[in-house]
Amino acid sequence: MEDNENQNDRTKGSPNLNTKGIAENTYDAIVIGSGISGGWAAKELCEKGLKTLVLERGRNVEHIKDYPTANNNPWDFPHRGRLPLKTVQENPIVSRCYAFEEATQHFFVKDNEHPYSQEKPFDWIRGYQVGGKSLLWARWTQRWSDLDFEANNKQGIAVDWPIRYKDIAPWYSYVEKFVGISGTRDRIPHLPDGEFLPPMEMNCVEKHLKSSIEKNYPNRHLIICFYQPKTFDT
Ligand SMILES: Cc1cc2nc3c(=O)[nH]c(=O)nc-3n(C[C@H](O)[C@H](O)[C@H](O)COP(=O)(O)OP(=O)(O)OC[C@H]3O[C@@H](n4cnc5c(N)ncnc54)[C@H](O)[C@@H]3O)c2cc1C
Repeated sequence: MEDNENQNDRTKGSPNLNTKGIAENTYDAIVIGSGISGGWAAKELCEKGLKTLVLERGRNVEHIKDYPTANNNPWDFPHRGRLPLKTVQENPIVSRCYAFEEATQHFFVKDNEHPYSQEKPFDWIRGYQVGGKSLLWARWTQRWSDLDFEANNKQGIAVDWPIRYKDIAPWYSYVEKFVGISGTRDRIPHLPDGEFLPPMEMNCVEKHLKSSIEKNYPNRHLIICFYQPKTFDT
């Protein structure tokens, strides 16, 4: 007790110590990882007024400057976009991801950079950078339904989800309104409708296929994808 008091007195009195250090480096919330999950969590926490620290293991990615291939044409790449056999052989796991190619390889973790042991086959596709795999995703944004939340339980795999679709549905709406997702309201129970922007239009072949499927297989659906458009003209 006495020691603590003496120490506090010394800290207060010393002009050479940064006595605000602890306060400046104390956070209400610390988020590990800046991908879609961590990035969104940090956004929400900041908006609610919490002092938030985001820790990211990967490099910073600066808009424009760090997209070295964004404006390349296929013929600008040494292998027209495909990866050479040596790269594929050196990266058997990440090579199984359809999007690992010459234009995008700099956003993927290579197999030998961060190896991991697999008890059962498991392709762990990673992107260690600010934004994580949000720099790679294809922008398809379907909601899960109870078909998904109940599937593993019905098949006796792992543990039952502690939530069901009705618990998460309002949060899907919350995110969709912020992000902007285009789609159609098809009333398919296992593919719930969302808070959609106008859908992309089907081309004439797709329209023909849709009407043909609906005529011949009334229980099957061909719909335009639920999608987060890069830009959207309304
Ligand atoms: C090519 C591709 C296409 C995809 N397309 C779709 C799609 O169309 N629709 C869809 O719904 N999903 C899609 N996905 C999946 C989707 O992108 C991911 O599920 C989602 O981005 C994961 O976000 P996350 O924040 O959970 O994880 P991540 O994006 O992996 O973020 C994790 C972050 O944590 C950081 N990190 C890890 N360990 C540490 C540590 N110890 N300390 C600090 N930081 C750390 C990482 O560097 C990374 O930035 C796609 C994925 C890929 C690869």
